[in-house]
Parts: sequence; C-alpha cells; structure tokens
Amino acid sequence: MEVTENCSVKVAVHIRPLIADERTQGCTECVTVTKGKPQVQIGTHSFTFDHVYGHGASPSSSMFEECVAPLVDGLFQGYNATVLAYGQTGSGKTYTMGTAIKDGSETGLIPQVMNALFKKIETLKHQTEFQLHVSFIEILKEEVRDLLDSEPVSKPVTPNGNAAKVTVPGRPPIQIRESSSGVITLAGSTEVAVSTLQEMATCLEQGSINRATGSTNMNNQSSRSHAIFTITLEQMHKIQSVSAVNDTSDEDMGEEYLCAKLHLVDLAGSERAKRTGSDGLRLKEGIHINRGLLALGNVISALGDEKKRKEGVHVPYRDSKLTRLLQDSLGGNSKTVMIACVSPADINAEESLNTLKYANRARNIQNKPVVNRDLVSNEMQKMRQQLQYLQAELCARGGPTSDIQTLKERITWLEATNEDLRRELHEYRSLRAVAECCETGAQESRSCFVKIDGHKRAIQSMDLPDYQMDEVLSDDNPGEIDEVDKELEHALRRNNMDRELNELNKRLEQKESEMKLVGGTDTEALKQHFQKKITELEEEKRIVQQERDRLLAAVENRAANSDSQIQKAQEINVQKLKALEAQISDLKKKQENQVELLKQKQRSDEAAKRLQAEIQYIKAQKVQLQHKIKQEAEQFRQWKAYREKELLQLKKEGRRNEYERHKLEALNQRQKQVLQRKTEEAAMATKRLKELLEARKYSIRDNSVNHNGHTPNGQVNDV
Ligand code: ADP
Ligand code: MG
Repeated sequence: MEVTENCSVKVAVHIRPLIADERTQGCTECVTVTKGKPQVQIGTHSFTFDHVYGHGASPSSSMFEECVAPLVDGLFQGYNATVLAYGQTGSGKTYTMGTAIKDGSETGLIPQVMNALFKKIETLKHQTEFQLHVSFIEILKEEVRDLLDSEPVSKPVTPNGNAAKVTVPGRPPIQIRESSSGVITLAGSTEVAVSTLQEMATCLEQGSINRATGSTNMNNQSSRSHAIFTITLEQMHKIQSVSAVNDTSDEDMGEEYLCAKLHLVDLAGSERAKRTGSDGLRLKEGIHINRGLLALGNVISALGDEKKRKEGVHVPYRDSKLTRLLQDSLGGNSKTVMIACVSPADINAEESLNTLKYANRARNIQNKPVVNRDLVSNEMQKMRQQLQYLQAELCARGGPTSDIQTLKERITWLEATNEDLRRELHEYRSLRAVAECCETGAQESRSCFVKIDGHKRAIQSMDLPDYQMDEVLSDDNPGEIDEVDKELEHALRRNNMDRELNELNKRLEQKESEMKLVGGTDTEALKQHFQKKITELEEEKRIVQQERDRLLAAVENRAANSDSQIQKAQEINVQKLKALEAQISDLKKKQENQVELLKQKQRSDEAAKRLQAEIQYIKAQKVQLQHKIKQEAEQFRQWKAYREKELLQLKKEGRRNEYERHKLEALNQRQKQVLQRKTEEAAMATKRLKELLEARKYSIRDNSVNHNGHTPNGQVNDV
C-alpha cells in the first residue's frame, strides 16, 4: 500500500451566532476572532486553528470547500476520511453536520458531501464502476444502534402518538469487529446500497428521524449519543496498458479495486454531566460522563501530546465503542477533520474554553493515511509499473524488429561479399593455371592441343563444380582455340608485367638502402659540426700566431741586450717559438683535413639527391606499371565476360538449331512413314484391281461359251 506523507488532524472552529434563547437570557459574547487570522480568543486564552468560521471569521458557507471537499477527493483516490463535530450540547454540531431533519439540511456538511460525491461520480462513471453503501449508527450508553434498520421489532406508541424505535433485548446487538489487517467493521449493521443522490438523502433523513424519535422518548438523549453516518465508496477502475493506449485498441490490462470510507460523526455533547441534568438535579461532577467522550479525550491527549507519543504511551482505543470505531481516524489510516463547535455566549464560556483546548490538542495528532487497494490490485500495480519500465526500455533499444532488420541487411551484405570473393578466387585460379600451362607450354614448344590439354587439366583441378569448363574446351569445338590463345597471351603479358614490377621493387629497395648508407646521419647536423670545428681551429690558430708574434717581438727586444742570462732566456723562447710553429702547422693540416671532409660530405649529399630522384622515378614507374596491370586485368575480364556471354548465346542458338533439326527429322520420318504406307496401299490396290480384272475376264469368257459356244469374234473355241 502506498503511504502518503504524515498528515495531522485538521481542526476548524465553527462559532455559531447567539441563539434566541441566549439573547432572552441577556447573554453577551465572550469569544472574539483575530481579524484575518484563524485565531480565537476567549478570556485571556488565545488559540490558533487551521480554520475559523462564523462570528466575523470566514463564512460558514466556505467550510465545505476548504475542509471537507479535499476529503471527498481523497475518497476517490482510496483514502479513508473522517469528519468529527465536537462541542457541547447546543453548540451547533448537528446544524454543522446537517444530520438534523430540518436544521442545516441544506447548509450542513453531509448534504454537501453527497452532492459533491454524485457530481464526481457522474464525471468518472465512463471509466470506473462505482458502488456506494451507507450506514448510519448511533452509540448510546455504549450500545450501538442501527438507525437504518427498516424493520423495527417493536414500535411502542408514546403518549403523544409518536412511534419510537428503541433497542430491543431480543435483537442481537451490533458487534464491533477488527479484521487481521486492523480494519474495524460493524457486524450486523444495515449497509444500504445506494445509487442516486436521492436514495442517499433518504437514508440520511430516515436515520435522523429514527435518532430524533428515539431521543424524544429518552429525554433528549441525543446530547448523550454519537451519530456516525458512513459512506463506503468502492471503485473498479479499468486500466489500459501502455501499448493498448498507443494502439488505441480496447484491450485493457486489468482492473484496480479501491475501497474507502468516509465517516461523518456528530458527537455527543462534550459538556460535563452536571449541566445535562434535564431534571435539574445537580449530579456530582464526573459521575456520569459519557464513556465514549471520556475515552476520546484520553485518546486525543495520548496522541496529541508529543512527549507522550514519543514515550510510546498506550492509546486507549479499546476503552469505548466510539474510540474503537474511530481508531483509524485518530492517529491511523485516515484523513481527519475535526470541527469544534462553539457557542459565543458568556454562560457557555467554560465549556467553550474546554472545547477549544480539546480541539487544540487534537491538532497535534498525526495520521498516516494509505490508499486502500486490495492485495491483487497492489500486485498488479507493481507489475504494471514493471511492464511500463520494460516497454520503455524496449523502445529505447529500438525494438526486436529493427535488430532483425539490421541482421538481415548484414547477411545480404556478407553474401554479396562472399560472392565477389568467390568470383575473384575463380579468376585468380584460372589465371594461375593458365600461367603454369604457359610456362611449361612455351618452354617445351608443345603443340597447341597439348597446351589446351594442360589448361584443361589445370582448370579441372579447380574445385568449382558450377563452372562447366569441359564444355568450353571440348575438342569438337575448334573455334575455342582462339580463345585459349588469347587467355594464354594475357597470362603471358601479366607474367611479364609482374616480373617487371618485381624488378622495380628490387631496385627500389636497393636504392633505398644505398640512400640510407649515404644519408644515414643527419647531414645538416654534420655540416654544422664541421663548420664549428673549423672556426674553432681557426681561432686556435689565431691565438697561437699571436703568441708567436709576441714571442718574436720579445726575442728581438732582448737581442739588443747581450746579456748571458738573457741569451739563455732567448734560447728558451726560440724553442718555445719552434714548438708553437709546429703546433700551427699541425693545426693547419687539421684544418685542411676538415675542409676535405666537408667537400666529401657535399659530394655524398649530391649522390643522395641523385638517388632520391632515381627512387622517385622508379616509384612513378611502379605506379604506372601497377595501373597498367590493373587496366590489363580489367580489359581481360571484360573480354572474358563478353566471350562468355557470346558463348552462352551460341550455345542457346545451337540448342535451338538442334531442336529444330530434331523436329525436322521427326517430320521427315513421319512423312516417310506416310509415303511408305501410301505406297503399300497403292500396291495393294493395284493388286486387287488386277485380280478383279482377271476375274471379270474369266467370267465374261465363261458366259460367252455358255450362251453360244462361240467366242465373241465368231471363233469356235476348241476346248
Ligand atoms: P448540537 O447538535 O450541538 O446540540 P444544534 O445543532 O442542535 O446543536 O444547535 C442548537 C441550536 O443552535 C439549533 O436551534 C440551531 O438551529 C442553532 N444553530 C446552531 N448552529 C447555528 C448556526 N451556525 N447558525 C444559526 N443557528 C445555529
Ligand atoms: Mg445535536
């Protein structure tokens, strides 16, 4: 079940105007409302509520919209709700709730609830099935009375002639039952199924009459009884699946069942017992306090006091029938509104203060309403969510059809590629075979037929059964030799070009390796190195020359003084000078070497350049050759295809001719047969004619002999 946010009991105060009775007693108003705030003052006390109605605060007419309409909406979402009217007798509870027969029958909350309920059902009935039940009970002296029981067992007639309905000992009392899930039900109370606003209104009216008549007989015990009007709303909500919605088909996914109850409670008067004595007797305070209200007070104080709540103090729901019945509405599974009814008259000041204190405490009660969905509906809700999630995921992946589509496309692509490759393979195989044949054939200068034979063998070695080469090369088709020759020629050319290409590749490789040797090191860096070396040497040379000059000058200077010591020094200097000169010549040699090296370097650079150019040229040649090979292959392929087509055409023609020949032969045969038959028939006819003529000849002769014994020409036959 879905748990909504914690929601505290909302409390509104309804202050009625002074009634005629109070006015005649000269009562004054002792309750004031802070302007623009839901705040009420009584004496020195000040209380803030969720709403305050009447007596200069909000108009009573807005009470339903602000306090009760949200509960009616919640009912359709599956939330239980309770509206409690609390206050002393005569403070306006019955008026506010609308449970009276006349008073507030239109302005009261219950009639407005009924209106709103049916209006909403009207707008939703095309998508949801609704079932409404009402029950109306009264708790009096800890007994539950059914106010909707249409068959009262006995109707004792009162002195004023009114039929009174009272609980009868013979009838089984209504029991309060609690299911395993903690739901409180009344066993044996009448639950009337209603389908129209009128039916529901009748129930309310009937129950109110029953309550009132009962009260008249029992000394206005209505102030001591709690009346609970309960509306049960069951909904069967048809839910369409995501796909069904998309397909706009009528296929529905399932149903969601929700059931929620709205209790509308007109509580007994909250005043202390001392004031209720209709006979005017001053009963001892607290003796006969309504047990239900006492328990309700205790429940509210246990639930409304945060400290007590935290300490986990026992909540005495079981102390009375009222608290047991309202268990869900106080700190449980219900959205609850309490309307504290207050009289502004000063004579009621004490009770009004008590009511406000009581109501203020009730504000602290926290409820935890949940949607009342049955277990199956709950499970279905979960599965529906899962389905939606999966469908969304499926959509995101592009669906199974697109997968299959891409796979199919891939298969066709692969098949096409396979076909291409097979064709290529076939071409290569035939080329290879032809080349082999050509090699052996050319070298050994065999006859053309030998070549054909080799070719045939080679081709037969290809395992492509669909290729009927036998037929193409059949010996009784000498015209095909031309074709074989052409193939051989092509293979030869191809072979030559391949060889040429290989040659080029080899040359290229060679040149590149040469190039590596020549330009292996970085020529530019080398050049710089040598240049530096040369300048260094030149610098060194210059320094040494300067030293030499200096020494020469010194020698010359000292030559002027012919001192023996100086002589010695001079000798040393001369030696030094010689050494320096040797050094200089050495350096000069080195410099020359370096210059030589530099020249060599330049030469090798030039060689490298030449090689580079050669490589470029070979590469271009190679590309050209490759291009040529390709062209050749393409031409050959085209020619081959053309030949094959031609061959097919010829074969077809041959077949047609063969067929024609057969046909003619058959015709000829038939004609021959006919001729023979005709000849035979003619021969037979001639034969028969001859016989006939013969026969006639004899008969004529016989006749002439018999008649005159003479032959026709007058001769006498000698017999
Ligand atoms: P209770 O049910 O609390 O005993 P009732 O609803 O019977 O009180 O009200 C007592 C009297 O006060 C009735 O005559 C009723 O008409 C009158 N009364 C109550 N509330 C209002 C109101 N808001 N405006 C006018 N009269 C009211
Ligand atoms: Mg009343």
